[in-house]
Amino acid sequence: MADEKVKSEAMQIIGMFQVLPRLVVFDLDYTLWPFYCECRSKREMPSLYPHAKGILYALKDKGVDMAIASRSPTPDIATTFLDKLNIKSMFVAQEIFSSWTHKTEHFQKINSRTSVPFNSMLFFDDEDRNINTVAERNSWSFIHADTNMMVVV
Ligand SMILES: [Mg+2]
Repeated sequence: MADEKVKSEAMQIIGMFQVLPRLVVFDLDYTLWPFYCECRSKREMPSLYPHAKGILYALKDKGVDMAIASRSPTPDIATTFLDKLNIKSMFVAQEIFSSWTHKTEHFQKINSRTSVPFNSMLFFDDEDRNINTVAERNSWSFIHADTNMMVVV
């Protein structure tokens, strides 16, 4: 099965690192799934990007916690989709609300909910303004990958 193949490849890659982040934080729209959920209906059956599920399962198997930081203006649709995709329980924190502070507030909430320090988190987001703001506020350094932005601490 495709998810299993992606998962085992991801497990191999993760296995090459001696130190892993304690928490990996994902954006939703255009990071885990290829759409803005405010443009969709709760009645639809959503789908993730093809590799997303395998990667989430690999991180879970490696004992890395995961969380969501989304500025979606429709948290009800986002939550319904996470439920329909059977991945809601994989996230130890789900901060989904629109905010003018980019994602600074989301990360403060994730930090107080999980007690994971900012320097043990890894953040994936398709929008560089979110990455830049969060990185600046928390003195993170970051590298810019082509499709996603990745914060490395
Ligand atoms: Mg996004």
